[in-house]
Amino acid sequence: MTITFDKLGLSQPVLQALDMKGYTEPTPIQAQAIPPVLEGRDLLGIAQTGTGKTAAFMLPSIDRLRESDNRIPFKSCRMLVLAPTRELAAQIAMSAKDYGALAGLKVQSIVGGTSVNKDRNKLHRGTDILVATPGRLLDLIDQKAFNLSGVEVLVLDEADQMLDLGFIHALRRINDLVPKERQTLFFSATMPKAIKELVSGYCNNPVQVSVTPAATTAERVDQYLFMVQADEKQALLELILSERHQVPGKFERVLIFTRTKHGADRIVKKLSQMGVPANAIHGNKSQPQRERALSEFKSARTPILVATDVAARGIDIPGVSHVINFELPNVPEQYVHRIGRTARAGKDGIAIAFCAEDERAYLKDIRKNTDAEFERLALPENFRAVVEGVGPTKREPPKPRQRVKPRPAGGPRPQGEGELRKAPPKRKHPGRKGKPQGARAGSSAAGQPGDRSSGRPGGGNRRRRAAR
Ligand code: AMP
Repeated sequence: MTITFDKLGLSQPVLQALDMKGYTEPTPIQAQAIPPVLEGRDLLGIAQTGTGKTAAFMLPSIDRLRESDNRIPFKSCRMLVLAPTRELAAQIAMSAKDYGALAGLKVQSIVGGTSVNKDRNKLHRGTDILVATPGRLLDLIDQKAFNLSGVEVLVLDEADQMLDLGFIHALRRINDLVPKERQTLFFSATMPKAIKELVSGYCNNPVQVSVTPAATTAERVDQYLFMVQADEKQALLELILSERHQVPGKFERVLIFTRTKHGADRIVKKLSQMGVPANAIHGNKSQPQRERALSEFKSARTPILVATDVAARGIDIPGVSHVINFELPNVPEQYVHRIGRTARAGKDGIAIAFCAEDERAYLKDIRKNTDAEFERLALPENFRAVVEGVGPTKREPPKPRQRVKPRPAGGPRPQGEGELRKAPPKRKHPGRKGKPQGARAGSSAAGQPGDRSSGRPGGGNRRRRAAR
């Protein structure tokens, strides 16, 4: 039986706001979390972004704030949401405004990298809901510009990431500063020991809800793997993005992960030398630069974004068709977070990992600690020769986007499809020109070993999942 929002006990204004957002059914975490949170219980949610957890804690909290009807406290807030990154904080604040639109609640957010003075001014009269990164919050508290005495509901979002970012001391301090009488909603995608300890300090007999077991690979993501030498990765990336070597799926927005900021910048520079516009987002970028990169990615004006783990955590960008792990993460859980950027809001997604010889141990760890299963893709024929031929070329800028219609399932293979592997390595006019409709969807992977039987890219991947 399908559960509807109105069965969960939410108020009319919140239901109306959901209607305006076009949400018809609660996601599993919403269905499980909303009733106990409405009752005032503490909650421990084990969930990744993309599961709808923001609404799971925001909707019932909005109702509780409305019911208790306390006044906005001077230089304080009634609900405090802590988030690890500026982007996630901005996103939560936006959701809070949407969900609380008709409830008349004041929502503010404060993050590092922006003017402290402005934050001080905007919080002077207090707010109902404050979304904050821990560092900026403590700055204001230290300046006596803000206090936590009014907090009725405290939310820790992506707690594991906050620990990874070194916020442990900040979180301990914050725990000492919030009133003992309060409700705590604690969310983490993974449950390492340090998180369990933090939970016992923060929560009082929490109801536990878990939508995916810790460190389980996101469902609906087809995962592929290239074994490729480290110094050939850039060439492979360029071939893929310029569609001279086809991979499964139709490019819409491509999110590329590196381990380092420097690595992210290098990719952007090399791609731009070939005439492929891309942006990078990482900790060394200013807030306006990060915001611009994200908005250009969201609008698909610059549909290639290169990110480090920290910068991309928790970002909700609809329509990421491909996640490319240019470098494998050295922490298996990061792999789960990375590929969780695609296949959001019920869509399928594609993740492609580039694994070099010295990353085999990371790959092994990922396989062991998550349920990741990869379908191996073959490198282009004569890859070495192609690598040497790939370089900055102004004459034929590759096209990062592809707008051809997918071939209907089981439909006839258009002429030319799957022939790319046989094509000479240095094609003069790669990309759309002269390529038959559907060539992209069929992709050269359909001609790769191990995929023939499925007749479509990703077929093997999906079958394996169904069997699990
Ligand atoms: P979150 O995990 O909170 O980052 O949410 C992931 C995405 O799912 C966001 O784009 C939300 O707007 C969307 N979303 C959340 N709840 C629902 C729902 N019940 N129905 C449809 N979309 C939803």
